[in-house]
Amino acid sequence: MSTFSTFRFASKRAIVRVDFNVPLDKQSNKVLDDKRILAAIPTLKHILNAGGSVVLLSHFGRPKNGPEPQYSLLQIKDKISEVLKVPVQFAADCIGQESMQLSAALKPGQVLLLENIRFYKEESQGDMAFAEKLAKHGDCYVNDAFGAAHRSHASTTQIANFFPDAKMAGLLMQAEIENAQKVLHTAKKPFTAIVGGAKISDKVLIVEHLLNIADHIIIGGGMAYTFFKAMGGQIGNSLCEDDRLETCKDILQRAAAIGVQIHLPQDAIVADQFSQNANTRIDDSNLIENNWMGLDIGPMACASFKQVILKSKTILWNGPMGVFEMPAFEQGTKTIAQAVAQATKFGAFSLIGGGDSAAAIQQFDLSNQVSYVSTGGGALLEYFEGKTLPGIAALSN
Ligand code: AMP
Repeated sequence: MSTFSTFRFASKRAIVRVDFNVPLDKQSNKVLDDKRILAAIPTLKHILNAGGSVVLLSHFGRPKNGPEPQYSLLQIKDKISEVLKVPVQFAADCIGQESMQLSAALKPGQVLLLENIRFYKEESQGDMAFAEKLAKHGDCYVNDAFGAAHRSHASTTQIANFFPDAKMAGLLMQAEIENAQKVLHTAKKPFTAIVGGAKISDKVLIVEHLLNIADHIIIGGGMAYTFFKAMGGQIGNSLCEDDRLETCKDILQRAAAIGVQIHLPQDAIVADQFSQNANTRIDDSNLIENNWMGLDIGPMACASFKQVILKSKTILWNGPMGVFEMPAFEQGTKTIAQAVAQATKFGAFSLIGGGDSAAAIQQFDLSNQVSYVSTGGGALLEYFEGKTLPGIAALSN
């Protein structure tokens, strides 16, 4: 297997699969957050500085039936160029004559961005013939799209078959894998996993897998209320998935049997409507009246979760403690973010899952005070569910 640091990129065209699925402002079409572009820059610079050229492949949004202007990567071409400080050429297709001519003409130091790979249905079908055509754009294949590594798509997985001796993980992908492995395989104890967010159904598998490796599992956010209901609590209008009540009971029983401590939020900030302007009060999480709903963890939960976090040596956090997008319900998530930052200062290793937890830590301006903020949402979850990610496996087969 080739490695990125030893591969000779001079005079080679490198196909680099990136995750440039960045948010755009609907009015101005400006990139609202360039984190994902910034994250790929070290990989791209390394190739260009070594005398190679780059063909960028990315998905962007979820187009349904072929090309849709609002999902064109042309909209972010200038942003990439600005961040990379190199002019970026654009091809309006991925496997047609135009793109093939442009990639064939690339000179060392040049960059070509291909149109949104998801404009082709063959991409998500993992079509081998399509992957073979994509592979014609370059002499080697670099996957730096950890955020898409859980998908067996043509540009993340099948394409690697055409580069048996020249396929490798880029620097971002390597960092993502190293940091996730640190938590999965060599976590210093006590290891605390914090899991939150809206739905227990999205997080069941990760919680079940964490039972095998964590000492403490803190559960917050909307998903906590299904646990309270499972234990016979009264949760009013809080989020609940009735078809998961047995799962919650099972998780609690298994945790008790193997000595993993599950921490649920004792109290909640409850509201009479799902709104920033709702009337609110503090209630026990298992005694919420009808017509009220828990939208954040309460002050007692904040204090006890903080204590657990501050004693931890390894912390994994995925999912907010409440509806942190509304200032009235952000305090729980903010307290947890601050506690994770403080524990990190005391020497703990902290890994923040992508998606909403990454957005939360950024909202509270603490991204630089934790050990690592992952760029992968679904991919990181699947990694911690113990699954093999096809995009990573394809690089070593
Ligand atoms: P997830 O994508 O599953 O991590 O869920 C993140 C979303 O969960 C965020 O948009 C939060 O606003 C939402 N959320 C967190 N806590 C609650 C809650 N108690 N009730 C409703 N939504 C919540």
